[in-house]
Amino acid sequence: MGKTSKDKRDIYYRRAKEEGWRARSAFKLLQIDDEFNIFEGVHNAVDLCAAPGSWSQVLSKKLLTENEENPDRQRIVAVDLQAMAPVHGVKQIQGDITNINTAKEITSHFQNSKADLVVCDGAPDVTGTHCMDIYIQSQLLLAALNITTHILKPGGTFVAKIFRTRDVTLLYAQLRVFFPYIHCSKPWSSRNSSIEAFVVCKNYSPPEGYTPHMMNPLLIHKPCDFDELTGINRVIVPFVVCGDLGQPDSDTCYPLNFEGKEYTYHEPVQTPIDPPYQEALSLLADRDTDFRRPDVSVVVDNLNSMTI
Ligand code: SAM
Repeated sequence: MGKTSKDKRDIYYRRAKEEGWRARSAFKLLQIDDEFNIFEGVHNAVDLCAAPGSWSQVLSKKLLTENEENPDRQRIVAVDLQAMAPVHGVKQIQGDITNINTAKEITSHFQNSKADLVVCDGAPDVTGTHCMDIYIQSQLLLAALNITTHILKPGGTFVAKIFRTRDVTLLYAQLRVFFPYIHCSKPWSSRNSSIEAFVVCKNYSPPEGYTPHMMNPLLIHKPCDFDELTGINRVIVPFVVCGDLGQPDSDTCYPLNFEGKEYTYHEPVQTPIDPPYQEALSLLADRDTDFRRPDVSVVVDNLNSMTI
């Protein structure tokens, strides 16, 4: 595959590199903000599942760089299992969002106050088994909601990736326990062919007497017939497409000179730091000098047989 083929196939990928975003997902959060004004009045913000960091870049830009009033009052925390290159003004925690210590570390950075905004673009490693991937994604959303109940101020906003599948109503019902206003939004830069969307939940209002806890996750643990969710248990959430509909379509391939500009190839803004395959890459680099080492030749054989 040539260096420019992904640029041709994905205009938002290309634009992200041109504009300095680490991932095309930045446009999704920007378009959600265009529609829902999620940064208004926000001082403390948390980016859950943040690596490689394009949503943190958006938070940094909106709350620090573009904030003319008092950028010193804003605090931003980013959490991910993986290490992430630094982002201006963002405190990083390398940790798991299902761990209570992560919640404690976040609030300690806010000097034991809470967040006004929590965003989560979390995605597990895909297994390729569709129903399993959807199940794990829904568990990650619930984990994000769970930690959010520890760290979000009453009245605060929660934005998270959701897969719109058959049983999504159950997730909406769970979110509705904590938020009176929920929209399901599809940013224009999110591919139509993807079941991904984002819930925008406003005015966090936990039920009276609710005590946040990590050990007993949300939702019931016994089998549930989703079709039985009726009446007040069946939450119908408005669906909103957001972003400027005059912008390019995220599923279309555009020519490289599409916008009338001369095309220049840009390297990715931030390559992964310390990725799990780092050792394999260094062994591969050594292969000419060290090809007779048995561990090197096994790795090289494996890499050669992989289709990337
Ligand atoms: N929003 C990011 C951006 O704009 O650059 C992209 C996020 S990426 C799609 C999903 C991230 O979720 C991965 O970096 C992964 O490590 C993280 N993740 C998955 N499970 C997690 C967990 N339990 N705790 C923390 N991070 C997690």
